[in-house]
Amino acid sequence: MEPITIAVLRRLTPPRFECVFYDDRIEAVDFATDADIIAITVETYTAKRAYAIADRFRKMGKLVVMGGYHITMLPEDAKPHADIIVRGNAEGVWAGLLADIEADSYRPEYVGEARMDYGLPDRSIYQDKMDKYLPISLVEIGRGCHHNCEFCSIYSYFKCQYIHRSIEDIIAEIKLCKGKVYFFVDDSIFSDKAFAKELFAEVAKLDIIWVTQVTLDIAQDEELLLLMKKSGCELILIGFESIDPDNLKQMNKAWSVKLGERDELVERIHRCGISIYASFVFGFDFDNEQSFKNCLEFCKKHQFFVTAYNHLLAFPGTGTYDRFAKEGRLLDDKWWLQEGYTFGTISYRPKLLTPSELSALCRRYKKYFFGFMSIFERGRTLKTRTDRASIVRAYWLANLLLHFEVDKRYGIPLGGNLDEVRK
Ligand code: SF4
Repeated sequence: MEPITIAVLRRLTPPRFECVFYDDRIEAVDFATDADIIAITVETYTAKRAYAIADRFRKMGKLVVMGGYHITMLPEDAKPHADIIVRGNAEGVWAGLLADIEADSYRPEYVGEARMDYGLPDRSIYQDKMDKYLPISLVEIGRGCHHNCEFCSIYSYFKCQYIHRSIEDIIAEIKLCKGKVYFFVDDSIFSDKAFAKELFAEVAKLDIIWVTQVTLDIAQDEELLLLMKKSGCELILIGFESIDPDNLKQMNKAWSVKLGERDELVERIHRCGISIYASFVFGFDFDNEQSFKNCLEFCKKHQFFVTAYNHLLAFPGTGTYDRFAKEGRLLDDKWWLQEGYTFGTISYRPKLLTPSELSALCRRYKKYFFGFMSIFERGRTLKTRTDRASIVRAYWLANLLLHFEVDKRYGIPLGGNLDEVRK
């Protein structure tokens, strides 16, 4: 998908700076570049790779700036690899930081407040790569979420604060993109319900299709669901995480049980014509193999559009990380830098399963869900929710791709010596 953060950074960069962008996911980084400043955004999963790139550039005398969630949560991790780190949101500090570099008076650390007044992202910085990205335009509506899940980095940074852009900017950006399908990349798009309703009423005038991420409590407001559907919403990602009440209680998500009958809420969303990408996480303290069976049954019962069965990750800065560290359950304090760490590796000791059992079960149950019979059965019910050919096509493409790709991601190393890998 297009890296919208980079377009936002370009927008925040004064025009006198010439910018070139390399997307390490799809192309080789040009280490022979004559750039003076190297800016890298870092997530926990990309930290190892980002540090390797940063070290190489710094050896060549380049000035390296790093920011992103991982840096915000764990600045000490990045400091040996960067000349400057940016914690928090870049909006308020980026232009000043660049001016400080020009004046040779920069500080080693900048802290940006949470704000979203960046206007319209400047996508010209990756126009030459658009044919390599999915034909979906990413648009940011807001940041933050009104919940407080123990394992969540969003909560760790924003607490329960939610900030959003202006409706004028959002609509102007959608019109500029000229695409048909949009992903509103929020964590919880309806954290401010009145704002969300106002926004969806405006989006309804644009004749677009959009998808987003929400929490199950959205189903309590049928008016909102109908407005979403009317404005082009076809698919929502819901982080169920678990269907076990004890797990939900432990992760501070017990509210999703208290909402009432989970089945009824799911059916209400489906009745409004919106499909669900159901996301689950395994490896919480009450998970055993039966949890996988129960979850698969729940998923088949509701014929979800697509699902994710991921294992729990203890991201630094979260309550889960701190709890596991206190309980002595982390297998490596800095698992993201661990030699040989690959996708699918469990970095802590689950309570009722071994790490390898947990990894194997996630893989096995993904395969069950994406089996041909399951894809076929779920595909038949899709027509009760939508008659849009593009969504039906997306369903078959996504499910068949996931059927064949379940095994592919496992074993892929995180960072390190990837320059020679053909992209
Ligand atoms: S509902 Fe989602 S975004 Fe909100 S705190 Fe929980 S995991 Fe994070």
